[in-house]
Amino acid sequence: MKKIIQDLTFEQLNDAVLSYGEKPFRAKQLYTGIMQGKSLSQISVLPKAFIQKLTETYEDSPIEVIKTLVSSDGTEKYLFRLADGNVIEGVFMQYSYGNTQCVSTQVGCRMGCKFCASTLGGKIRDLSSGEILSQVLKVNAMHGGNDGKRAVTNVVLMGSGEPLDNYNNVVQFIRNLSAEGGINISPRNVSLSTCGLVPEMYKLAEEGLPVNLTVSLHNVTDSERARTMPIANRYKIAQILDACTNYFDKTGRRYIFEYSLIEGENSDDKHAYALCKLLAGRPCHVNLIRLNDVKERKLAAASEKSAQNFLHILQNGGISATLRRRMGADIGGACGQLRAGYLGN
Ligand code: SAH
Repeated sequence: MKKIIQDLTFEQLNDAVLSYGEKPFRAKQLYTGIMQGKSLSQISVLPKAFIQKLTETYEDSPIEVIKTLVSSDGTEKYLFRLADGNVIEGVFMQYSYGNTQCVSTQVGCRMGCKFCASTLGGKIRDLSSGEILSQVLKVNAMHGGNDGKRAVTNVVLMGSGEPLDNYNNVVQFIRNLSAEGGINISPRNVSLSTCGLVPEMYKLAEEGLPVNLTVSLHNVTDSERARTMPIANRYKIAQILDACTNYFDKTGRRYIFEYSLIEGENSDDKHAYALCKLLAGRPCHVNLIRLNDVKERKLAAASEKSAQNFLHILQNGGISATLRRRMGADIGGACGQLRAGYLGN
């Protein structure tokens, strides 16, 4: 596989350009073109011979959109093909406050959550920082983003993969995403979701990157959590909560818990009351969502009525909580569903 130029910081790119004997201003032109989501051969301000040399070492484009699905609610879902032929997916959601791009961080996932389609075939490989960044650059360009105005304003690391299981590339991605002169999306507009890899949660708190930390909790006791999330056998909820407290102390950022409501698993009144007790007094928010049914898994969403009931118990118990709409459910909006369908899993 050739190298991926989107992996480079501006400084690294500058060095690479100079090593080809090109003038320094070519580095700026190249960087700008890349940040506009162009493939190397599309950056027409550069001399053809230079592009030719570059594409001997670097992929012309690390990802291509091979399929787009548009939901009735406006959500768009893409299937991307990587240079090595692997496929990943991404989602673009439009809200009143801006547009959110959901990116994948790995091809597949090895965390094994029972309700998640991303994990069906295990982890194939990590994505490089440039492959993650390219998802944003591509979708931004597709929606007319330009130097003056970004089409993608927020990024969530909630596609396929466990971001903290690909720690270095993910941190590099967030740095490159927020670099000046690039697409320049602030870490404050980035949400990183983890199933709860405790050591990496502590590490992240030290990076000086004020991203929104989101933890997939999905249950209230370790034993019940372990039924759908194997990671619960490694880290206890109490350890996760301590890591969240540390994150808040270090970054001043409130943290968020994801809680997908599954019929007969985690959505009874007793779970809601226990969640109130668990989270009482914490600077956190709970995002409830009804499970997106995954046909490969025999788990079903809690009813709308019981989801509303769960929400009210939390709110009455003094917990900040919202019940999210299931955006894009008609196009396989949940993690890994589009890819799983494509691969014929
Ligand atoms: N690996 C990370 C990020 C990926 S998923 C993590 O575990 O947080 C983003 C969110 O979607 C997670 O909270 C995940 O548990 C949840 N999720 C996965 N499959 C789902 C489904 N079928 N329905 C609802 N939520 C799902």
